[in-house]
Amino acid sequence: MKALQSQDYDVLVIGGGPAGSTCATLLADQGHRVLVLERAHFPRHHVGESLMPQTYWTLKRLGVLETLGKSACPRKESVQFVSSSGRESQPFFFTDRDPNEWSITWQVRRDEFDAMLLDNARTHGAEVMESVGVREVLFDGNTAVGVRATSNGCVKEYSAKVVVDASGMSAVLASQLDLRYPDEKLRSAAIYAYYRGGKRDTGRNAGATIIVHTPDRKGWFWFIPLADDMTSVGVVGSSSHLCTGRGDNPDATLDEEIAACPAAAARLQSAERVGRTYVTSDFSFRSRRVAGDGWVLIGDAFGFLDPIYSSGVMLALKSGEMAADTIHPGLEAGDVSGARLGRFGPELAQGVQRLRQLIYAFYDRDFSFAAFTRDHPDEIDRLVRVLIGDVFTDEVDPLFDALGEQVELPPPIELETDTGE
Ligand SMILES: Cc1cc2nc3c(=O)[nH]c(=O)nc-3n(C[C@H](O)[C@H](O)[C@H](O)COP(=O)(O)OP(=O)(O)OC[C@H]3O[C@@H](n4cnc5c(N)ncnc54)[C@H](O)[C@@H]3O)c2cc1C
Repeated sequence: MKALQSQDYDVLVIGGGPAGSTCATLLADQGHRVLVLERAHFPRHHVGESLMPQTYWTLKRLGVLETLGKSACPRKESVQFVSSSGRESQPFFFTDRDPNEWSITWQVRRDEFDAMLLDNARTHGAEVMESVGVREVLFDGNTAVGVRATSNGCVKEYSAKVVVDASGMSAVLASQLDLRYPDEKLRSAAIYAYYRGGKRDTGRNAGATIIVHTPDRKGWFWFIPLADDMTSVGVVGSSSHLCTGRGDNPDATLDEEIAACPAAAARLQSAERVGRTYVTSDFSFRSRRVAGDGWVLIGDAFGFLDPIYSSGVMLALKSGEMAADTIHPGLEAGDVSGARLGRFGPELAQGVQRLRQLIYAFYDRDFSFAAFTRDHPDEIDRLVRVLIGDVFTDEVDPLFDALGEQVELPPPIELETDTGE
């Protein structure tokens, strides 16, 4: 496809998950012609129900806080860690450090939450086509100029001044350009399902995400309370432990992992599994670049971090917002070069890196948060700030100096960039 003088759209977004919907909504708000192509038909299943409080600011900008406030989604005020034998840490209550409404968030069913955000993009003026899968991003030289997509077996091309890849772990463009690389130390897998009738905590901790260590700390479970007495339960561990030599029966593997962990089994004593069991493996990776001429990567399509701190949706919303705020002035100036579109990359990479360092600490077998906070009480506030997703500030960095004395932290994320020279 040749670069067109007048493209069909200003911006074409691949994927209508939280990253794509956010970027599309905010660019449509600025009067740009935006097309979202989404492979699935919404509502569609998606893992990742626990939000971080710092999603508040993007959700506010999108205008959906009232809808969430009126929903049946449990309010999440805390996160709590539990040993495999059932010894519970004090919950980290987010409002204890900052008693404001933005310190409380929600546990959401992603089929409903993502459909709500995609509908919101439509309401704000973006055109959305569902059941349309993008096969390939089209280039004129080094510049992205559109996509080739299929729907009901028909192939169609769409052109745009900027192509935003928000296709989640499919990472359409990063795969096409061979930009993906794994985070070698975080090669995990997850097996997960929904349960009805699981144990609920009460009071302020009723909406907490509960993290339960597996015996020998080989991995961990999440317990996320949802509306209608449902609980999302998943176990995360190394791919070799959860997948290799365990047969092709994820139901059985999940049952075995639960039975081997007294604290997890106790929470599900009178619960029944509802629906199918899902498996995802080897999911931590990043792209070497965040943008090029006429294209941008956001959300999981840029990179995915281990889900221990529930950071994925926050990073999807935030990167969608950062990209929109970079693309809009670029379109106004008639400059959609990689150098211009990639300006948000360093800030995004720093935020990801701050979470990544805390993830490395969690997986360090010699590290204990209880001992760390006892030895470094001055760092508790910064630790909670990272746990709520307040990672786009260098004010939290002294935490990593202290962590670095006990844990081998990962080197900084280096992004390849266009200098524009
Ligand atoms: C085991 C596990 C547990 C997790 N738990 C949490 C959690 O508790 N909290 C949290 O915040 N995050 C969690 N996450 C991460 C979170 O789910 C993701 O980070 C988040 O969904 C990223 O949003 P996104 O918009 O980038 O991608 P997605 O939400 O994946 O959206 C991408 C969209 O693109 C569409 N698409 C894909 N390919 C194409 C194509 N070729 N053409 C058109 N459309 C396409 C897909 O259908 C999809 O709708 C978890 C992830 C895993 C693996």
